Amino acid sequence: MNTIINNDISYEKIISKPLENNIWIIFSKQTNKGIIIDAPPDFEKINQIISNLGTLKIENILITHNHYDHIDGIEYMYANLKNPVKIWIGKDDLDKLNEFSINKNDIKTCTENTNIKLNNTFVKFIPTPGHTNGSTCILIENHIFTGDTLFPGGPGRTSNSNDFEKIINSIENKLLVLSPNTLVHPGHGADTKIKTSKKEYEIFKYKNLEISKLSGNISW
Ligand SMILES: [Zn+2]
Repeated sequence: MNTIINNDISYEKIISKPLENNIWIIFSKQTNKGIIIDAPPDFEKINQIISNLGTLKIENILITHNHYDHIDGIEYMYANLKNPVKIWIGKDDLDKLNEFSINKNDIKTCTENTNIKLNNTFVKFIPTPGHTNGSTCILIENHIFTGDTLFPGGPGRTSNSNDFEKIINSIENKLLVLSPNTLVHPGHGADTKIKTSKKEYEIFKYKNLEISKLSGNISW
């Protein structure tokens, strides 16, 4: 099912293996060009996606971060898409991407100054270190694709308290400052809204926990 972002851009969500990862296909009706967010190693779903594209041309693949369940399908996707694509990833998550057999010229790193466009609509990269150092969220109009950085009810998993401080900093200063009606599309599971996350985060903050001692799977 397609959901409309603006009068030109729509998206489709595809739930895949191995961990109910969301793959997002975002496309322009007017130009029939699109992007894919994340490449989980679900080869059956990738085949299905490619055969359902029809005349839609995917020109860019955006990787939210370098964990296997978001990236290990990239070589297969890259090899089987019918037209040339560029692959985008946060600089600090680049190493993993270099392990795949992909032409280095087709790999691009993104920073907060990088914008690509889908026809007339900006696709903005928002670096949000924490879950991984190169974790990047993708903003299109009032839709933010958050990978494993922000979920309904809490942040993504962190492996130590230093990373937890980073993810909190990213969420507070890069995501919760977006318009309250921004829809949040995480890398797994259901959507939420920035205003809901903001309320949840305020309660968490009110608990006054020692952030420098937290990590792992934390709920707001
Ligand atoms: Zn992850």
